[in-house]
Amino acid sequence: MTIKAYGAHAGDQPLVPIDITRRATGPDDVRIDIAYCGVCHSDLHQVRAEWAGTLFPCVPGHEIVGRVAEVGQAVTTFKPGDLVGVGCIVDSCRQCEECADGLENYCNHMVGTYNGRTDDAPGHTLGGYAQAIVVDQRYVLRVSHAEDDLAAVAPLLCAGITTWSPLRHWKVGPGMKVGIVGIGGLGHMGIKLAHALGAHVVAFTTSEGKREEARKLGAHETVVSRNPDEMAAHRAGLDFILNTVAAPHDLDAYISLLRRDGTMALVGAPATPHPSPQVFNLIMKRRSLAGSLIGGIPETQEMLDFCAKHGITADIEMIRADGINDAYERMLKGDVRYRFVIDSASL
Ligand code: NAP
Ligand code: ZN
Repeated sequence: MTIKAYGAHAGDQPLVPIDITRRATGPDDVRIDIAYCGVCHSDLHQVRAEWAGTLFPCVPGHEIVGRVAEVGQAVTTFKPGDLVGVGCIVDSCRQCEECADGLENYCNHMVGTYNGRTDDAPGHTLGGYAQAIVVDQRYVLRVSHAEDDLAAVAPLLCAGITTWSPLRHWKVGPGMKVGIVGIGGLGHMGIKLAHALGAHVVAFTTSEGKREEARKLGAHETVVSRNPDEMAAHRAGLDFILNTVAAPHDLDAYISLLRRDGTMALVGAPATPHPSPQVFNLIMKRRSLAGSLIGGIPETQEMLDFCAKHGITADIEMIRADGINDAYERMLKGDVRYRFVIDSASL
């Protein structure tokens, strides 16, 4: 079927309306009428070819929520009318150790929701800035939030799981002091989730204007990282840091804040590398520097169910599809509270 979408034909071109084709619903497929799609900073990196390997036309979008329109004969767990989500993954090899462990995000053959190789035309996947999507049931998530919350659930499909997965992996919970660096789409979810998991949360921002807002999101303390005295007050005081910053910066400023055996996990994926950290800053207190990529399908479902139970959604600003280029410019300035979401009805 042919549907309306928004995408770009080259990295230096703005996003424009594009007609795209979705495959017919196969036996294991779920066709979803997309209601809303969140706008991730990764969309901007990819569509502007800041990361290597962007395939054009590029239709971004991997924070998809909507309603099931049609299911294939072999689909038993979803039916038309169900509220569902699709995140960053639409296929994987299903045979490797990572897939068996429910960590499809680390499968060598993981197919991203956009820019992934596929047999469907045009040879690569096209994402959620579109009216509909067809996805194998294995990669479709159940949404149990109230329907009124649907737009604010969309960002959980990437910003939510990308912060949830490392928070859980590094066992964040009561008795731990946790830093969240960069209060954008990912960071604001990191604050909410770390708070809900019972940790003492310290938010780090470059934006003075977010100091009070971070507290309202659930941070117990906020540090404006441009202020050296505020940073020094947390030296060797944090058990775990989740760094979501989308631009290269001095990692040592944060590594110094880890206690003995503390870890900083990087999820921000800037187009150019961070300056390499000082080895002595790591070895003196046996600190670790790590990375984490989105999350697997079972843990995404776990996160969605946790958020539904605890009444957690993203703070969003709804936009029309034709506002996407302006939204990207605002995102680059850190001027978003805290996630843009496209209303698919405007396509
Ligand atoms: P975002 O909404 O733009 O938030 C990024 C935040 O980082 C900004 O709000 C700002 O927070 C801070 N920041 C930005 N530029 C900065 C600079 N030059 N210096 C210091 N701080 C700066 O982006 P997002 O959607 O949360 O994504 C963040 C990053 O994570 C992107 O690189 C994205 O591609 C990546 N990502 C990775 C994964 C993964 O699986 N690892 C998944 C999704 C996204 P303050 O105003 O508070 O300083
Ligand atoms: Zn994303």
